[in-house]
Amino acid sequence: MKTKRRENWYQCYLAKWSVYELLEKCDGDLAEKCQASGCLKCGGRLDRSDYRRKPRGGPEEAKKVETWRDSFCCDREGCRKRHTPPSVRFLGRKVYWGVVVVLMAAMEQGVKPARVEVLRERLGIDRRTLERWRTWWLATFVESRFWKEARAQFMPVLCQKTLPWSLCKAFGIDRLDRLLKLLRLLRPLTTAWVPVPLDN
Ligand SMILES: [Zn+2]
Repeated sequence: MKTKRRENWYQCYLAKWSVYELLEKCDGDLAEKCQASGCLKCGGRLDRSDYRRKPRGGPEEAKKVETWRDSFCCDREGCRKRHTPPSVRFLGRKVYWGVVVVLMAAMEQGVKPARVEVLRERLGIDRRTLERWRTWWLATFVESRFWKEARAQFMPVLCQKTLPWSLCKAFGIDRLDRLLKLLRLLRPLTTAWVPVPLDN
Protein backbone atom coordinates (compact mmCIF):
# COMPACT_ATOMS: atom_id res chain seq x y z
CA MET A 1 0.00 0.00 0.00
CA LYS A 2 1.44 3.34 -0.96
CA THR A 3 1.92 5.98 1.71
CA LYS A 4 -0.20 8.49 -0.18
CA ARG A 5 -3.09 6.10 -0.24
CA ARG A 6 -2.76 5.54 3.48
CA GLU A 7 -2.92 9.25 4.11
CA ASN A 8 -6.14 9.27 2.16
CA TRP A 9 -7.84 6.97 4.62
CA TYR A 10 -9.19 10.11 6.15
CA GLN A 11 -10.92 11.20 2.93
CA CYS A 12 -11.84 7.64 1.92
CA TYR A 13 -13.30 6.43 5.18
CA LEU A 14 -13.03 8.52 8.30
CA ALA A 15 -14.72 11.64 6.97
CA LYS A 16 -17.35 9.89 4.88
CA TRP A 17 -20.75 9.58 6.49
CA SER A 18 -21.85 6.94 3.97
CA VAL A 19 -19.22 4.59 5.44
CA TYR A 20 -20.70 4.98 8.92
CA GLU A 21 -24.19 4.42 7.54
CA LEU A 22 -23.02 1.22 5.94
CA LEU A 23 -21.50 0.07 9.23
CA GLU A 24 -24.78 0.83 10.98
CA LYS A 25 -26.57 -1.36 8.51
CA CYS A 26 -24.12 -4.21 9.18
CA ASP A 27 -24.74 -3.80 12.90
CA GLY A 28 -28.46 -4.00 12.21
CA ASP A 29 -27.96 -7.39 10.61
CA LEU A 30 -25.83 -8.60 13.51
CA ALA A 31 -28.51 -7.41 15.94
CA GLU A 32 -31.26 -9.19 14.03
CA LYS A 33 -29.32 -12.43 14.19
CA CYS A 34 -28.75 -12.02 17.91
CA GLN A 35 -32.44 -11.37 18.60
CA ALA A 36 -33.54 -14.29 16.47
CA SER A 37 -31.43 -16.70 18.53
CA GLY A 38 -33.31 -15.81 21.72
CA CYS A 39 -31.90 -15.80 25.23
CA LEU A 40 -28.74 -17.86 25.46
CA LYS A 41 -29.39 -18.60 29.11
CA CYS A 42 -33.05 -19.63 29.21
CA GLY A 43 -34.33 -19.51 25.65
CA GLY A 44 -36.65 -16.60 26.41
CA ARG A 45 -37.63 -13.87 24.00
CA LEU A 46 -35.29 -10.92 23.60
CA ASP A 47 -36.73 -7.43 23.82
CA ARG A 48 -35.04 -4.29 22.57
CA SER A 49 -33.04 -2.47 25.17
CA ASP A 50 -30.72 -0.28 23.14
CA TYR A 51 -28.57 2.30 24.77
CA ARG A 52 -27.34 5.67 23.66
CA ARG A 53 -23.74 6.12 22.60
CA LYS A 54 -21.93 9.22 21.49
CA PRO A 55 -18.91 7.93 19.64
CA ARG A 56 -16.23 10.51 18.97
CA GLY A 57 -14.03 11.20 16.00
CA GLY A 58 -16.60 10.76 13.22
CA PRO A 59 -17.73 13.15 10.48
CA GLU A 60 -19.95 16.18 11.15
CA GLU A 61 -23.12 14.32 10.18
CA ALA A 62 -22.49 11.82 12.97
CA LYS A 63 -22.90 14.57 15.54
CA LYS A 64 -26.35 15.46 14.26
CA VAL A 65 -27.94 12.03 14.57
CA GLU A 66 -28.49 9.86 17.60
CA THR A 67 -26.38 6.76 17.79
CA TRP A 68 -27.72 3.70 19.52
CA ARG A 69 -25.92 0.55 20.50
CA ASP A 70 -28.14 -2.43 19.73
CA SER A 71 -28.89 -4.40 22.85
CA PHE A 72 -31.55 -6.80 24.12
CA CYS A 73 -32.89 -8.08 27.38
CA CYS A 74 -34.50 -11.45 28.03
CA ASP A 75 -38.21 -10.98 28.72
CA ARG A 76 -38.43 -13.74 31.34
CA GLU A 77 -38.85 -12.73 34.95
CA GLY A 78 -35.88 -13.91 36.98
CA CYS A 79 -33.57 -14.05 33.95
CA ARG A 80 -33.58 -10.70 32.15
CA LYS A 81 -30.16 -11.48 30.79
CA ARG A 82 -28.72 -8.71 28.64
CA HIS A 83 -27.49 -9.61 25.18
CA THR A 84 -25.42 -7.11 23.26
CA PRO A 85 -24.61 -8.31 19.76
CA PRO A 86 -21.18 -7.92 18.20
CA SER A 87 -20.60 -4.67 16.35
CA VAL A 88 -18.54 -3.34 13.47
CA ARG A 89 -19.01 0.26 14.67
CA PHE A 90 -17.63 0.08 18.18
CA LEU A 91 -14.45 -1.42 19.48
CA GLY A 92 -14.77 -2.66 23.03
CA ARG A 93 -15.13 0.13 25.54
CA LYS A 94 -13.56 2.79 23.43
CA VAL A 95 -15.57 5.98 23.11
CA TYR A 96 -14.35 6.63 19.57
CA TRP A 97 -15.76 4.97 16.48
CA GLY A 98 -13.98 1.63 16.02
CA VAL A 99 -12.91 2.53 12.50
CA VAL A 100 -11.12 5.61 13.89
CA VAL A 101 -9.27 3.53 16.48
CA VAL A 102 -8.16 1.07 13.80
CA LEU A 103 -7.13 3.54 11.10
CA MET A 104 -5.51 6.19 13.29
CA ALA A 105 -3.46 3.57 15.12
CA ALA A 106 -2.49 2.02 11.78
CA MET A 107 -1.43 5.38 10.37
CA GLU A 108 0.82 5.92 13.36
CA GLN A 109 2.78 2.91 12.16
CA GLY A 110 3.14 3.96 8.57
CA VAL A 111 2.54 7.65 7.94
CA LYS A 112 4.79 10.64 8.65
CA PRO A 113 4.27 11.83 12.24
CA ALA A 114 3.50 15.37 11.07
CA ARG A 115 0.67 14.07 8.93
CA VAL A 116 -0.72 11.96 11.78
CA GLU A 117 -0.66 15.11 13.93
CA VAL A 118 -2.84 16.97 11.45
CA LEU A 119 -5.39 14.17 11.32
CA ARG A 120 -5.31 13.71 15.07
CA GLU A 121 -6.20 17.34 15.56
CA ARG A 122 -8.83 17.30 12.88
CA LEU A 123 -10.56 14.36 14.52
CA GLY A 124 -10.26 15.90 17.98
CA ILE A 125 -8.21 13.09 19.50
CA ASP A 126 -5.75 14.11 22.17
CA ARG A 127 -2.22 12.83 22.08
CA ARG A 128 -2.57 10.72 25.19
CA THR A 129 -5.57 8.92 23.74
CA LEU A 130 -3.54 7.98 20.69
CA GLU A 131 -0.80 6.67 22.97
CA ARG A 132 -3.31 4.65 24.91
CA TRP A 133 -4.56 3.11 21.68
CA ARG A 134 -1.04 2.12 20.76
CA THR A 135 -0.61 0.42 24.13
CA TRP A 136 -3.99 -1.22 23.72
CA TRP A 137 -3.07 -2.71 20.31
CA LEU A 138 0.44 -3.77 21.24
CA ALA A 139 -0.28 -5.12 24.72
CA THR A 140 -3.97 -5.70 25.48
CA PHE A 141 -5.05 -6.75 22.01
CA VAL A 142 -2.00 -8.94 21.36
CA GLU A 143 -2.55 -10.72 24.66
CA SER A 144 -6.30 -11.16 24.20
CA ARG A 145 -7.81 -14.57 23.85
CA PHE A 146 -9.53 -13.34 20.71
CA TRP A 147 -6.27 -12.48 18.98
CA LYS A 148 -4.48 -15.61 20.12
CA GLU A 149 -7.11 -17.58 18.26
CA ALA A 150 -7.59 -15.24 15.32
CA ARG A 151 -3.91 -14.81 14.44
CA ALA A 152 -3.60 -18.46 13.43
CA GLN A 153 -5.52 -17.72 10.23
CA PHE A 154 -2.82 -15.36 8.91
CA MET A 155 -0.15 -16.79 6.72
CA PRO A 156 2.53 -15.46 6.63
CA VAL A 157 2.44 -14.65 10.32
CA LEU A 158 1.46 -11.04 11.01
CA CYS A 159 3.95 -8.66 12.52
CA GLN A 160 2.57 -7.96 15.99
CA LYS A 161 4.81 -4.99 16.57
CA THR A 162 3.16 -3.00 13.81
CA LEU A 163 -0.45 -3.73 14.67
CA PRO A 164 -2.95 -2.70 13.52
CA TRP A 165 -1.09 -1.59 10.39
CA SER A 166 0.00 -5.16 9.60
CA LEU A 167 -3.62 -6.22 9.91
CA CYS A 168 -4.79 -3.47 7.53
CA LYS A 169 -2.11 -4.51 5.06
CA ALA A 170 -3.08 -8.17 5.26
CA PHE A 171 -6.68 -7.28 4.47
CA GLY A 172 -5.78 -4.78 1.74
CA ILE A 173 -8.19 -2.22 3.13
CA ASP A 174 -7.79 0.20 0.24
CA ARG A 175 -11.10 -1.31 -0.76
CA LEU A 176 -14.10 -0.60 1.43
CA ASP A 177 -15.39 -4.17 1.32
CA ARG A 178 -12.05 -5.35 2.71
CA LEU A 179 -12.10 -2.77 5.47
CA LEU A 180 -15.52 -4.10 6.34
CA LYS A 181 -14.13 -7.60 6.43
CA LEU A 182 -11.46 -6.48 8.87
CA LEU A 183 -14.03 -4.79 11.11
CA ARG A 184 -16.11 -7.96 10.99
CA LEU A 185 -13.11 -9.95 12.16
CA LEU A 186 -12.75 -7.61 15.13
CA ARG A 187 -16.44 -7.64 16.03
CA PRO A 188 -16.19 -10.20 18.87
CA LEU A 189 -14.14 -7.64 20.79
CA THR A 190 -17.32 -5.69 21.40
CA THR A 191 -19.67 -8.38 22.63
CA ALA A 192 -19.16 -8.10 26.37
CA TRP A 193 -21.63 -5.61 27.66
CA VAL A 194 -19.84 -2.80 29.39
CA PRO A 195 -21.62 -0.56 31.85
CA VAL A 196 -21.14 3.21 31.69
CA PRO A 197 -18.99 5.21 32.25
CA LEU A 198 -16.91 4.32 29.27
CA ASP A 199 -13.23 5.00 29.08
CA ASN A 200 -11.08 5.87 26.09
ZN1 LIG B 1 -33.37 -15.53 29.62
